[in-house]
Amino acid sequence: MAENLLDFDAEGLIAWFAQQGEKPFRARQVLRWIHHFGESDFSAMTDIAKSLREKLLLTATVSPPPTISDKLSDDGTRKFLFDVGNGNAVETVFIPEDDRGTLCISSQAGCALECAFCSTGRQGFNRNLTTAEIIGQLWQANRALGHAPASNNSGERIISNVVLMGMGEPLANFDNLVPALRLMLDDNAYGLSRRRVTVSTSGIVPAMDRLAAACPVALAVSLHAATDGLRDKLVPINRKYPLAELMAACQRYLVHAPRDFITFEYVMLDGVNDSDADARALLHLVQDVPCKFNLIPFNPFPASGFKRSPAERVRRFASILINGGIVTTTRKTRGVDIDAACGQLAGKVLDRSRRTSRSAEIDAGLAGASAGVELHL
Ligand code: SAH
Ligand code: SF4
Repeated sequence: MAENLLDFDAEGLIAWFAQQGEKPFRARQVLRWIHHFGESDFSAMTDIAKSLREKLLLTATVSPPPTISDKLSDDGTRKFLFDVGNGNAVETVFIPEDDRGTLCISSQAGCALECAFCSTGRQGFNRNLTTAEIIGQLWQANRALGHAPASNNSGERIISNVVLMGMGEPLANFDNLVPALRLMLDDNAYGLSRRRVTVSTSGIVPAMDRLAAACPVALAVSLHAATDGLRDKLVPINRKYPLAELMAACQRYLVHAPRDFITFEYVMLDGVNDSDADARALLHLVQDVPCKFNLIPFNPFPASGFKRSPAERVRRFASILINGGIVTTTRKTRGVDIDAACGQLAGKVLDRSRRTSRSAEIDAGLAGASAGVELHL
């Protein structure tokens, strides 16, 4: 079967080329064509020897996940839905801002970790995305946005930041994630700064250490509670890696991290984790971890059982953290006009195969984790 070259980072492609009797510099040239110039047709790779182009046409492909839909919001947010086979679809969101363009990508179809407030978690776990499916979201978005990935002629980057905050837990798909991260950073591919690639995790402690060793990038940790009692309920992986271990892992990560702080994400759930006492407990919890907080107004979905905290409560909560000396931002919802439609569309695609009646109830909220947000990390 033809090899999908989107599955390889530079090292992997060089190894595969070696098996075909081809030199490393040829692999780098092809890598540059595929990712830097967004080319999928080997016959268009004009500075590659004709004999190699012909060989590649027979043995290899460049196959990203096909686009099911591509929707543009009034505010410029753009949402893609990609087909990853067997009725599964994943979402990718592009969020343009004045000083940056952020692409929010998915790492798994569904998620096994079952956080109580997350619609992806409610879907259950379907499977890990391959490296080609992870990097393929960036490849596709770059093409759709109409510019060469690293820079256009004016030196301006269209996608300047990537965040792994779509569907799935990236650190539960470590082996496929790391080559994709390496491609994001590779100058022959997307050439993004390590500080502008962010992995978001619910706190899989051993994988945080592995990431620090294999490919340190910016890290966001989904905290959502200041005590083990509450976090055990909201983020069940906490029962395995409780807060003290998580805080220690954050400190270890910072030794290798490209930024000198961890971003803590905190979804604001009305009456659950949003009191003044919760904010003060957070200050105590993170006192030894250099960090910023990003408060996320809960994105409701049917039968979630949670409500979004009122705006005034979020402001008060933020002010306690700020007065405690922690830089705190609140995520603004964007792309509202395309959120629901895209979530429903993804749900319909999933309905074709394996979804249960319970998951059908939450179709409209499929976009829970990634939907139309402004990201300040
Ligand atoms: N699995 C990873 C990354 C994907 S989720 C993680 O949990 O960090 C990205 C962020 O969206 C996480 O902080 C997650 O807790 C948050 N999130 C999930 N469901 C949400 C919802 N319904 N409303 C607002 N944020 C949500
Ligand atoms: Fe998975 Fe993250 Fe959703 Fe938790 S919040 S269920 S880890 S995608």
